[in-house]
Parts: sequence; C-alpha cells; structure tokens
Amino acid sequence: MLLLRNITYSANGRKILEKINMRFKEGMSYSILGPNGAGKSTIAYILMGVIKPSEGRIFMGDKDITELNITERARLGISLLWQEPARYDGITVEEYLTLGGKLNVDKEELKEVLEIVGLPYELYHSRFVDKSLSGGERKRVELASILLLKPKYAILDEPDSGLDITVTELIDRILDYLKRIGTTIILITHHEDIAKKTEFSYFVCSGKIVRKGFSDEVVEYYKRACGKCPLLEVMRY
Ligand code: ADP
Ligand code: MG
Ligand code: MG
Repeated sequence: MLLLRNITYSANGRKILEKINMRFKEGMSYSILGPNGAGKSTIAYILMGVIKPSEGRIFMGDKDITELNITERARLGISLLWQEPARYDGITVEEYLTLGGKLNVDKEELKEVLEIVGLPYELYHSRFVDKSLSGGERKRVELASILLLKPKYAILDEPDSGLDITVTELIDRILDYLKRIGTTIILITHHEDIAKKTEFSYFVCSGKIVRKGFSDEVVEYYKRACGKCPLLEVMRY
C-alpha cells in the first residue's frame, strides 16, 4: 500500500497542497480528478520523490519513504508517466524501451505492448525518440515503457492529454494490461470519462481533497460542480 499522510507542500510562499491524505491499495485503480492548477501533478511529484513535502510523510506499507529519491523509489516499483514526455536524441524506440538491451524483454512482449499503445512494431521500433515523433507518439512510447517496467505502482499524469480521439480505447487497453499484471493504478486526469474507468477517485482542487470514494459517485459530484472547484465557489458567495 502507498500512503500519503498529511502532505502539505509550499513553494514561493504559497500552499500548493494542504493536508493531503491518500491511500492506494495493492492491485486497485484510482484516479486523481481535478481542474487545471488543482495540484495533481504536484501530488504525482510527491509520490515519485521529485519534490519533498513541506510537511507530512509518505509510506509504502510500513516503510517511511519520504526521504527516498526518484531512483530509490523507482527501485521499489513506483513509476511515473510525466505529463510532458521527454525527447531522447539518437535513441530508437526499441533501444529506449529495452533500456539499450538492459531490460529483459522478448520481442513478442515488446510487440504486444507497442500494439496496446497503438504504435505497430514494424513502423516504430527503429524510429528515433526525438522531435521527429509527435508529442502524442512520444507519450505512447512512454506509456509502453511503463507497461514493460511492470511497476507495482503506476502514476499516469494525464495519459489522455496530447493524444487524439481514439484515446478512450487506448486508456482501456492500458488499464486492462496493468490490472492483469497486478499494478496499482493512479490515474491523473481532468476528464470524468477517464476517471470513471478507475474504481476509486479523489477529487482535488485548490490543493485539497474535496471528495473521495467510488469513482461513479465522485464523478457525479465533479459533474455537478461542472469540473470547477466548489471550495472557490463557497469562498465567493
Ligand atoms: P495540476 O497538475 O492539477 O494542473 P499542478 O500540480 O501542476 O496542477 O500545480 C498546482 C498549482 O501550483 C498551480 O497553480 C501551479 O502554478 C502551482 N505551482 C506548482 N509548482 C510551483 C512552484 N514550484 N512554485 C510556485 N507555484 C507552483
Ligand atoms: Mg494541468
Ligand atoms: Mg498537471
């Protein structure tokens, strides 16, 4: 189980997250739903160890992992799909996905995973992961890399952004695959249709959790709020 306990994060004198408590149980799927600027990516960075919380602790099971860096957390099985995919000049898709041959993947598995993300092996394996790939294609390559890593916890920061309209089926295939291999899914999105694909949701806005529970119920609440932050509405009236 991955646990955020009373996480507060401040930067430049501003509270970006305030007393966030979240619990991600083994093999379950979760979404973190909220409008732009809610603090979703910041939660992803806190989980991955990109940034350290100002207050609060992070646990994996009984182990306090708050002080562990990105590499150490990756070793424990946490992986992050960044909202903005990176570029790697001079590295092919196949080299990137097999970590230059260091990751033990057979060709059938590589083909299957590339098929899932919608990049046929024959067309893409020797392409370079640089600016010759579109942002959407690079995002698909990153998704493939997460599937091949078989992480215990996959944090997917807006896997639907930068992709085209076939995206809901793509997300279905990715979630199915991760479920099948027992990965805990933490899906960040501002789309209710995507959040509905997970079992549980946290609705976050203005750095706070405003609703949590079964995704259907949280999504209904999110819809009634028109995807806006009810905390801000309360403050205004
Ligand atoms: P989301 O991913 O939900 O769109 P973010 O987590 O990226 O939101 O950001 C939440 C808020 O915190 C935004 O208003 C953003 O501008 C602000 N923010 C994030 N990092 C910093 C920082 N280092 N300094 C100041 N503001 C920041
Ligand atoms: Mg955003
Ligand atoms: Mg974000």
